[in-house]
Amino acid sequence: QYSTDIKHVTGVNNSPADALSRIEAVLKCSIKPADMASAQDNDQQLQDLLESTTSNLRLQRLQVDNCTLYCDTSSGKIRPYVPADLRFGVFQHFHSISHPGGRATARIIADRFVWPFMQRDIKLWVRQCHPCQSSKVNRHEKTPLTAFLKPDDRFAHVHIDVVGPLPTSHGQSYMLTCVDRFTRWIEAIPMADQTAITIAHAFFDNWIARFGSPLYLVSDRGRSFQSSLFRDVATLLGIELRFTTSYHPQCNGLVERSHRSIKAALMSRLGDSRERWYEELPIVLLGLRSVFK
Ligand SMILES: [Zn+2]
Repeated sequence: QYSTDIKHVTGVNNSPADALSRIEAVLKCSIKPADMASAQDNDQQLQDLLESTTSNLRLQRLQVDNCTLYCDTSSGKIRPYVPADLRFGVFQHFHSISHPGGRATARIIADRFVWPFMQRDIKLWVRQCHPCQSSKVNRHEKTPLTAFLKPDDRFAHVHIDVVGPLPTSHGQSYMLTCVDRFTRWIEAIPMADQTAITIAHAFFDNWIARFGSPLYLVSDRGRSFQSSLFRDVATLLGIELRFTTSYHPQCNGLVERSHRSIKAALMSRLGDSRERWYEELPIVLLGLRSVFK
């Protein structure tokens, strides 16, 4: 016998569909071409630019989704001109995904849109962003040059670290962050605790199963990483463990920076509802991976 009940699943319970629709939202700007076209008609700055003989922009009317929009083609890409009224909305749309810094946010937006002095506007808005101000304490910190400057092979050197304890979310309180030195591919795996067995399982199931065993696994001298269990697992898989020394902790600077940016991006996105980090982690990782390193 078959049940024919069809139940409505709300966004809260239906998390895979919810996540998918949010990913779509991330990839596509919510501003409609028709709204942009009518705003362009009323934008004085655009009229001035069209009459200007000194502007570097090459503006021409092009068909975008059944609308005719002024777009710049000087960079080899078709970038719609954003009228003054819509600029902050475009900024918020792209910045709020994972709250990247000023330069990264400007790069993401300048890839898709154009307006005069956009770099200046975007950097100013990032400096004024409240979630960024409250969670990125160390954003001006520069990581010193390290011995690791020449990556040689994809997924050969993997840097790992543990972030936490975080507010318990779906029974998880820690994250194992893994960064490939060559591709900068980043993973953050939720964990219930930070014991050697949990870390070994998390790394095997989520990294080795997908990318294979690295030649070298770089970590700090945390107790779990130095435990005999962790060493045995590594030996079994042919992985050489390398520990950053207390004299040169900056050798792990790459993952230090990456795991800090995961945590900062998560906290920026969550605001007061920090116990939702488990649900928000995939979208924050998507945002971080889209930022060119
Ligand atoms: Zn921000």
